[in-house]
Amino acid sequence: MATPGSSAPHALDAWRNERVFPVLTPPQIARIAAHGRRRQTAHGEVLVDVGDKTVPFFVVVRGELEALRRATGKETAIVALGPGQFSGEASLIVGRRSLARIRVSEAGEVIELDRAQLLALVQTDAELSEILMRAFLLRRTALIAGEVGDVVIIGSAHCSGTLRVKEFLTRNGHPFHYIDLDRDADAQELLDRFHIEAGDVPVLICGNDNVLRNPTNARIAECLGFNDAIDPADLRDLVIVGGGPAGLAAAVYGASEGLSVLVIEANAPGGQAGSSSRIENYLGFPTGISGLDLTARAYAQAQKFGAQILIAKDAAKLACERQRYTVDLGDRSRVTSRALIIATGAEYRRPQLEHLSRFEGAGVYYVAMPMEAQLCAGEEVIVVGGGNSAGQAAVFLAQTARRVQILVRKDGLADTMSRYLIRRIEDNPSLVVRPHTEIVGLEGEGHLERVRCRDNRTGAIEAVDIRHVFMMTGAVPNTAWLNNCVALDDKGFVKTGTDLTPEDLAAFGWPLARPPHLLETSRPGVFAVGDVRARNVKRVASAVGEGSIAVSFVHEVLQKS
Ligand SMILES: Cc1cc2nc3c(=O)[nH]c(=O)nc-3n(C[C@H](O)[C@H](O)[C@H](O)COP(=O)(O)OP(=O)(O)OC[C@H]3O[C@@H](n4cnc5c(N)ncnc54)[C@H](O)[C@@H]3O)c2cc1C
Repeated sequence: MATPGSSAPHALDAWRNERVFPVLTPPQIARIAAHGRRRQTAHGEVLVDVGDKTVPFFVVVRGELEALRRATGKETAIVALGPGQFSGEASLIVGRRSLARIRVSEAGEVIELDRAQLLALVQTDAELSEILMRAFLLRRTALIAGEVGDVVIIGSAHCSGTLRVKEFLTRNGHPFHYIDLDRDADAQELLDRFHIEAGDVPVLICGNDNVLRNPTNARIAECLGFNDAIDPADLRDLVIVGGGPAGLAAAVYGASEGLSVLVIEANAPGGQAGSSSRIENYLGFPTGISGLDLTARAYAQAQKFGAQILIAKDAAKLACERQRYTVDLGDRSRVTSRALIIATGAEYRRPQLEHLSRFEGAGVYYVAMPMEAQLCAGEEVIVVGGGNSAGQAAVFLAQTARRVQILVRKDGLADTMSRYLIRRIEDNPSLVVRPHTEIVGLEGEGHLERVRCRDNRTGAIEAVDIRHVFMMTGAVPNTAWLNNCVALDDKGFVKTGTDLTPEDLAAFGWPLARPPHLLETSRPGVFAVGDVRARNVKRVASAVGEGSIAVSFVHEVLQKS
């Protein structure tokens, strides 16, 4: 690899290798040049600045570029790029604002492509697509690992808002620097400088100057410009509501097959799968893959083909009176499409427990990811539930927790959990199954300190000192926003295809002579896929399969409309 001229140390020097900062060959450079334009550069010229919304892609032909970051008024070098090397990381594909300043450190020549030209290149040139996409994703990983970004979070491990904000940024793959109020003596001084009270925690310094106090996820997305490149007003061929595995699969197939596709995601891409610590039964990953990794790849893949993904936007209401379906986003904006895929999945069931909301994120959790595992390292934890998600959480947490108790109402796990997980639980002495047991009370000041457990055979209630409880007790479908537009089953899941009875079709005014397609709901051109669909098998593979298949029926519907 050519070593660029600058000898000063750079934040990502440790990541310098052929995969992260490859040097392109002359024929590869010539293929890129055909998509863009050559231009001369002058020493000190700023080609891109931090926060720029329009970010071109550069290949260095002669001279050198330097990527720089600005933090607390200081400029530090991230990396230097010499001849044959190129600028950019994942934001370029996603259409987000620039995290870095790109400055010419040695005059020369570059090839410049705008984002549309770059997307056209990666969609048509398989070899360059592989090199660029891999480098962009690895560079983003390096930025996250090095906490090189435009966001600082000042928070506390005992505050549920802090966990939420960290999770939101992590699941959106956005790098941040975290300052822990419980450990950092200088942090209070920083808060005083911004006149911030305890109730405003967590504080987020966004783009290095905006100070947000306990912001909502939507406010963070707005501040970081996650949705800047998307105009909701355009009519789309296909709108997909929900960016879990089912929605992302539909987006990949739809966009790669030439449809204009918009995904609306209430939180962060990945859905429930994004919160799984390790998925071991998804085809092609024999050693397993974290849900975050799997869905981050799917997210990048969907963007590569040109799908647009609105982040932290709730579909609040569906209007289905006309053939062009309209989704109300609850903020006075709406999107309209010729076909719609419902992929809103399901949400964790929240047990009926007094004070539950007070302890959510402060001792009660619904996901078990590295962030939560870190919070309870060396301590005892309880996992509630007998399904596979509970089993995975228990096995994962046992790697760091002192002991994990698994509470189940039934007399064991055999009816509800996969055999491979049961075997791992049986083989691990720090995992203990407590059958016929459920939590009936939560206690603590600020953070959870104690739970009351009932033995359902004897009715005896025992107080257990515990600071961390993981609720893994199944899920209910996210269908409230559907506004009675489509037929649901008695549990609220969306009915599709042959599950729809003549009575359902009559009740919802099915207007066509043909019966609904596979995965089509009681409205023509509206499909349901993944966990939200009645009789779906609740697995990543089936969500992905259904999302992909639905697109072939979308084409049929669009051709005939
Ligand atoms: C902890 C855990 C571990 C798991 N492990 C495995 C495993 O190892 N193997 C396996 O095969 N399966 C596993 N599963 C199940 C698997 O994750 C799900 O079956 C799969 O994620 C379903 O995908 P989906 O896209 O249908 O729905 P979801 O993943 O639920 O995604 C739905 C998306 O829609 C969004 N949404 C909801 N309402 C709205 C709205 N109104 N507007 C906009 N967006 C909205 C949500 O924010 C979410 O991102 C696990 C599940 C959990 C919870």
